[in-house]
Amino acid sequence: MNVDLTDEQEQLRDAVRALGRRYGHDYFVTKAKSGEHTTELWAEAGRLGYLGVNVPTEYGGGGCGITELAIVCEELAAAGCPLLLLVVSPAIAATVIHRHGTEAQRKRFLPGFADGSLKVAFAITEPEAGSNFHRLGTVARRDGDDWLLSGRKCFISGVDEARYVLVVARTEEAATGRLRPALFVVPADAPGLTRSKLDMEIVSPENQFLLYLDDVRLPADALVGESVDAGLPALFAGLNPERITVAAMGAGTGRYAIERASTYTASRKVWGGRSIGSHQGVAHPLAHAAVQVELARLMIYRAATLYDAGRDLEAGVAANMAKYAAGEAAALAVDTAVQVHGGAGMTTEYGVATLLGAVRAGRIAPVSREMILNFVAQHVLHQEKSY
Ligand SMILES: Cc1cc2nc3c(=O)[nH]c(=O)nc-3n(C[C@H](O)[C@H](O)[C@H](O)COP(=O)(O)OP(=O)(O)OC[C@H]3O[C@@H](n4cnc5c(N)ncnc54)[C@H](O)[C@@H]3O)c2cc1C
Repeated sequence: MNVDLTDEQEQLRDAVRALGRRYGHDYFVTKAKSGEHTTELWAEAGRLGYLGVNVPTEYGGGGCGITELAIVCEELAAAGCPLLLLVVSPAIAATVIHRHGTEAQRKRFLPGFADGSLKVAFAITEPEAGSNFHRLGTVARRDGDDWLLSGRKCFISGVDEARYVLVVARTEEAATGRLRPALFVVPADAPGLTRSKLDMEIVSPENQFLLYLDDVRLPADALVGESVDAGLPALFAGLNPERITVAAMGAGTGRYAIERASTYTASRKVWGGRSIGSHQGVAHPLAHAAVQVELARLMIYRAATLYDAGRDLEAGVAANMAKYAAGEAAALAVDTAVQVHGGAGMTTEYGVATLLGAVRAGRIAPVSREMILNFVAQHVLHQEKSY
């Protein structure tokens, strides 16, 4: 399979890289430490069409695919600006609405995704259910034509920036009494929806929240799709784009860390005239991390190519593997970058330790490394499921 990028994709990469470098990691950290958001970067990326690359042209988007969105995620991260909301809003929410929304929902929401003016958070994780989404406790009940949503969600990113939250809830199946998942577009300021910010050990302008839904009343058309039957496919539609773009963000972060580190080790001299990078004890760990990041990138663009070709099952395996590989490679790259900087590595100024929390979280969210290994063991190696 050919995973070489086209000329247009390379041009997109160059253009996004240039934009990211104009802002850079200092901008990202300054925003995070002052409790602000990367509003200017997001708005400019939106105006330039980078946030809507995967939205169809008839709704004002770029008409491209997840490959292009992965390029945007990777290059902004490689410039020191890993934006998690790219994964949540254009990758998950826009894909779900494009693929499974009604035409009215597509017309209503996709133009905002296309120019980046609309941010939508995504809420599936719950305190009691954790990795086991079969245990979701948030329930959607019918009340006349309306829906009433009640439950709790945790670790939901970007609710303070988003106009809507795409909430995964369960509906009761009248025939059997069984509960099954459905997705709802909930206004972030809906009466009955409250939030509290979680204190996270991550240097990021994007925040995580606990959400409480207390009989949140929604009109019938808040349900994604024509009926609750759209729920499960809609939920699955978001998974591959989520994994591919979060992996791209990890690979970009790894590249950023290795670039910072190799620039430093090539010029730092503490033993006479030779740089510390001339010592293999410094150079080899960096080279090893660079190999891991490149391997992850191969799998990311393979997964993206498969996904954009509509080969969803193969894309699922590749996306999970890419997410695993990129999560591990990013954590290794940042940790190694800190180490080869010595004490400077722990300062804010050198801009690598600031990423430790984010890459550590990348091995847990949006799907943990263990759940990916479970997936690979079960679906690739045909092992019995233990849980
Ligand atoms: C920075 C950040 C941002 C996030 N943003 C969002 C968001 O926007 N929206 C959202 O819905 N969620 C979000 N999350 C939540 C994230 O998706 C979950 O944290 C993740 O899916 C793991 O769930 P959990 O924390 O409940 O861990 P648990 O399910 O409690 O798992 C705890 C540990 O046990 C392991 N484990 C659990 N079950 C098994 C098993 N069967 N086999 C082997 N190991 C197992 C897990 O891998 C993990 O290491 C975010 C989390 C973080 C850290």
